[in-house]
Amino acid sequence: MKTTIGVLGEFGVIDQILAPLLPGDKASVEVGIGDDAAVLNLPRTHQLLATTDTLVEGVHFKTDSDPYLLGRKTMRVNLSDIAAMGGQPRWALLSMAMPPSMSLDWVREFARGLGEDGAAHGVALVGGDTVSSKGCITLSLTLLGSIGLGRAILRSSAQAGDLLYVSGTIGDALLGLNQTLGRPPLASADDKVYLERRHHLPEPRLALARGLQETDMIHAAIDVSDGLVADLRQLCRASRVGAEVRLDDVPLSPAAQRLVAQHGPELLHALVTGGEDYELLFTLPPAAAETMHHVAEAAGVTVTPIGVITAGEVNFSHLGKPVHFAKGGWEHF
Ligand code: ADP
Ligand code: MG
Repeated sequence: MKTTIGVLGEFGVIDQILAPLLPGDKASVEVGIGDDAAVLNLPRTHQLLATTDTLVEGVHFKTDSDPYLLGRKTMRVNLSDIAAMGGQPRWALLSMAMPPSMSLDWVREFARGLGEDGAAHGVALVGGDTVSSKGCITLSLTLLGSIGLGRAILRSSAQAGDLLYVSGTIGDALLGLNQTLGRPPLASADDKVYLERRHHLPEPRLALARGLQETDMIHAAIDVSDGLVADLRQLCRASRVGAEVRLDDVPLSPAAQRLVAQHGPELLHALVTGGEDYELLFTLPPAAAETMHHVAEAAGVTVTPIGVITAGEVNFSHLGKPVHFAKGGWEHF
């Protein structure tokens, strides 16, 4: 008989699987899992960053998704939010709702993935909630981070005249999702492996963002979770600015380039509105560009200028012509 959560019970799951996962250090975790609330120590010189992301079976992942990869992704999407503020991830709270028939191996694998990527960034799991659901699995991770007082990188402080940069490459996650669903445009076997990995394992840009934050030259940043177009519009709205963006300059991986070459410019337009890139979109004054490139090199991340911040509207161009996007990216409702 396969062991289920129902057999081990809520406290079995907590004690045996979750509590040992990411204990954290005594200095910052005074009380972790086990009491009614965690007691955490933050230096007086720092502020708390708090973010949460929820993954719902059938909406964010398929029922037969690999739980290990899902655990890693759950941690990574939250790490990306802390990165976008320039912060240091520290503590996590995990809420899980699942049917009692859920296999214990599934939970173990999910926890292993979450633990691996949490440990890589010094995150401690300090609490959460484990409840039964009548149907689907819902996983929610809250990640707390720290940042020096007044040092958070906001999305609301872009200025007209700033250069607009994006890290890494855009569109791989959407193409990877299509590969996993067997949807066109289908890539070659090698490209499929690469693109699916980019879909399952986004790369939170923590080192880059912290480097930029420490050198004090960055004006505004947002992580690209809902699509480049939508997230740029968010940043511009928050900063009360516009932008001129050259889609020709949007960085694509070799795999994405091959598909765009085959399928034409409409595919590029789909990629810049597809979500889940988890790249960093940021602005800074032109005078800071050279230092920024050194920071990016030290972080081992490519950064590409894709436009400028203006006092006008948000405009996109491609091949010398304006491009209009009705819908900028993924929206739930
Ligand atoms: P309470 O009933 O007081 O909310 P619980 O009895 O549900 O607390 O949980 C006991 C302890 O286990 C608490 O410290 C809680 O934060 C922790 N916990 C419960 N579920 C999880 C989880 N999924 N991940 C991490 N810690 C958890
Ligand atoms: Mg409870």
